[in-house]
Amino acid sequence: MNLVKLIYELKPDEIYHLGAQSHVRVSFDIPEYTSDVTGLGTIRILEALREAGVKSRFYQASSSEMFGKVQAVPQTETTPFWPRSPYGCAKVFAYWATVNYRESYGMHASNGILFNHESPRRGETFVTRKITRAVAAIKVGKQKELFLGNLDAQRDWGYAPEYVEGMWMMVQQDTSDDYVLATNETHTVREFVEAAFGHADLDWKEFVKFDARYERPAEVDLLVGDPAKAKKQIGWEPKTKFRDLVRIMVDADLAELKSKS
Ligand code: GDP
Repeated sequence: MNLVKLIYELKPDEIYHLGAQSHVRVSFDIPEYTSDVTGLGTIRILEALREAGVKSRFYQASSSEMFGKVQAVPQTETTPFWPRSPYGCAKVFAYWATVNYRESYGMHASNGILFNHESPRRGETFVTRKITRAVAAIKVGKQKELFLGNLDAQRDWGYAPEYVEGMWMMVQQDTSDDYVLATNETHTVREFVEAAFGHADLDWKEFVKFDARYERPAEVDLLVGDPAKAKKQIGWEPKTKFRDLVRIMVDADLAELKSKS
């Protein structure tokens, strides 16, 4: 069944377009596929909505990766984009496609520019989950080492459930718009490592090793977002900050391992 027919038959009230090839490192290995799925995928849905003549509200999962080589700190809705990966390039395309369909056809279409959002359900190859899973495995004696890439990279890490609520809040507004969701705090990968191992009473220096395979051809160095517009216009605010997020993720991975053994 094609997209137009599907949308015409379902007539969804709201569409949350989160589908993507979403791993930045992997996007350097499969750039064309990433552009197709992450970039063109968005315009396929927007165009299907237009063709079907269905008035669904549309949410586009835009990303802090669009800021890449950051042009201002912190980043806001008006900071120019400078993507640093095929993934970032595809997300910039999808962002503008969303704005363009809103302006051209009066669609209710919003971009949530979400900074990194993490939880115990984060994919295992992303650095936060990779670290918290390793901490739990090391704690129960199932693993001895953890190989990581660039420990100096900085990210603005928030708690995913709150960000999902923020997406929903954007879609409930009378007028569609674009919003940054972020904590306005930045931490290095090293700080995440320290906090996660520390929470399990482990000294990270005994376990963490470097592996160049996890480095990237180009890096985004200082992502930190200012969510002031979201607070002012839709009343969204992050509640869970860095230390609590690390604790939630380490505790969940420890609990999962213990329940299995
Ligand atoms: P991203 O922000 O979507 O790229 O999220 P990731 O969790 O994949 O990466 C966050 C940062 O951690 C990047 O700057 C990586 O270079 C850095 N990093 C350091 N070591 C690793 C590693 O072993 N795996 C991943 N995925 N990232 C790492």
